[in-house]
Amino acid sequence: MIEPGATIGILGGGQLGRMLALAAARLGLKSHIYTPEADSPAIQVAAGHTLAKYEDLAALSAFAATVAVVTYEFENVPAPSAAFLSARGLVYPDARALGVSQDRLTEKTFMAELGLATAPFCAVDDAGGLARAVAQIGRPAILKTRRLGYDGKGQASVREGSDLASVFRSLGGPCILEGMVNFEREISVIAARGRNGDFAAYDVGENEHVQHILSRTMVPARLSPPIAAAAIGIARTIADALDYVGVIAVELFVARDAANQPVLIVNEIAPRVHNSGHWTLDGALTSQFEQHIRAICGWPLGSTTRHGRVEMRNLIGQDIDLWPEFLAQSGACVHLYGKGEARPGRKMGHVTWIVPPRQGPPGQDG
Ligand code: AMP
Repeated sequence: MIEPGATIGILGGGQLGRMLALAAARLGLKSHIYTPEADSPAIQVAAGHTLAKYEDLAALSAFAATVAVVTYEFENVPAPSAAFLSARGLVYPDARALGVSQDRLTEKTFMAELGLATAPFCAVDDAGGLARAVAQIGRPAILKTRRLGYDGKGQASVREGSDLASVFRSLGGPCILEGMVNFEREISVIAARGRNGDFAAYDVGENEHVQHILSRTMVPARLSPPIAAAAIGIARTIADALDYVGVIAVELFVARDAANQPVLIVNEIAPRVHNSGHWTLDGALTSQFEQHIRAICGWPLGSTTRHGRVEMRNLIGQDIDLWPEFLAQSGACVHLYGKGEARPGRKMGHVTWIVPPRQGPPGQDG
């Protein structure tokens, strides 16, 4: 077990790393951020940092020697670097969780093998493969790069009349074709699994995207209790199968089956803290960031009890200019990430509102 005073190594210097470092500090831990970018929000709040490429083995080795455990705030850490660090100490979540989530084909195959419902999918390696995949899956469908896609990047639609060769060319490289799911809403489960296998999930959140970027999360999601429990069960199945340690995010679609009953379809997993869990900073007894630190340190998981109905709104790009108005609003919990330039699509901060539970019998706070 890691003791207070130890240093947590975090690969990645974005806002997730920043909020992890702040949570670690509250628990008497120090953080050392490893990032290639000098202008990193996490560096501002960490005890130490290394500025180096993720492939720099000498820098990784020196980093590993100063930290008690290594974690990461994004899933695209190169696999050889994760393996190199694993050989030098504790890395949580481990290389397998990274490997599964880095590649959409591996990820979907893994979920299907667990018996979980996914969108229909098919590997596509070239334009001819896309034609065969479309013959199998039909149109409309979405072509996605297997690796390095996020916020709608690395995706292209295949519609009636789309020219398959040019759709494939627009992405290039190994892809996966997914059938379109006619979903009602997108939800996510934020959960944690400890080193001893303990599992704790937050109430399920409902996500709204604008231009492929998360805009709002509302908790609880509008789901019947059995469907909400099933969503959490899916997250647990995935976390157990990976012998996972840390916070995991599982994104799901809620669709309707032929009998018009709600069904859950797993979209993707993130082996890390997640934007749709930011509400837990103000809206739950233990934030997802603290929970992740607890899990990777081998500490007991904290309570995921929610303080009320919650809404989290991202401040994206120029939204950040509204910061004085949010600060003046009583009841708005404002988080600013310390980033310089407010480029379009850049996550600059977030605001959370909490409606305390109504007086009345338990379970009536909706
Ligand atoms: P992803 O990058 O896989 O998280 O997808 C980004 C967004 O694209 C999702 O949040 C959905 O809104 C949409 N999307 C992705 N895959 C599908 C699918 N198979 N069917 C319908 N919509 C999808």
